Amino acid sequence: MYRYVDAGPAPPATSEATSRVMRRTRRTGTAPELAVRRALHRRGLRYLVDVAPPGTNRRRRVDVLLRGPRIALLVDGCFWHSCPEHGQLPKANREWWRVKLHGVVVRDRDTDAQLTSEGWLVVRVWEHEDPDDVADRITALVSASRAKT
Ligand SMILES: [Zn+2]
Repeated sequence: MYRYVDAGPAPPATSEATSRVMRRTRRTGTAPELAVRRALHRRGLRYLVDVAPPGTNRRRRVDVLLRGPRIALLVDGCFWHSCPEHGQLPKANREWWRVKLHGVVVRDRDTDAQLTSEGWLVVRVWEHEDPDDVADRITALVSASRAKT
């Protein structure tokens, strides 16, 4: 079982950069996510947005859900989800951030496990990825799932 590590209340943002990152953080409907959604829509795919799939913890929401092919798409922010290319610990309050960001990753893996056990194909992409590349990958997965049925 996974355990969500609580880092405690947020320390005050001590640098302009950190407060910018924190301000930019919206759980859903971020610019990269919208770009991916638009790219999927252009390819004729239809989906639900920001939903908790049936059978999973209702607080674990999925950015884009394609019900027919049972694909759960999550667009992960580089900062919050610790992207290997762009994720970095803020210099101030480093230990608090380390625990906090680690907790996010632990929670992500637990969400993946829940979704997978409910029969969803989990696709996580980084917000830095090209939206058209992402949409092409999803389109291929949808075609593959149609071919199976
Ligand atoms: Zn990144």
